[in-house]
Amino acid sequence: MSSRSFSIFCSQCSGFILTYRKEGSGSLIRIYVKQILEPIFFKQFKNSKLKSEISPLQCSQCKQKLGIPKIHKPGNRPAYEMIKGKFFKKEL
Ligand SMILES: [Zn+2]
Repeated sequence: MSSRSFSIFCSQCSGFILTYRKEGSGSLIRIYVKQILEPIFFKQFKNSKLKSEISPLQCSQCKQKLGIPKIHKPGNRPAYEMIKGKFFKKEL
């Protein structure tokens, strides 16, 4: 399956949030923690079993909330449900 990489930025202050490797096509509705390439800070959550263990996805500059932690079934994959309008992306 083909994959593409994106950087995600805050819609409010344009601050860098993360870089993500996306498989397949379609819009960015859910991102899986395992596929976040940068910052490496997120790697600590890649095997989390509870959404309460995963830190909220927010902008480090303006604190806007961009995504909601979730354990996605099937597969129990730690993920963020992205909040529409709170971010923009650029393909790498
Ligand atoms: Zn921001």
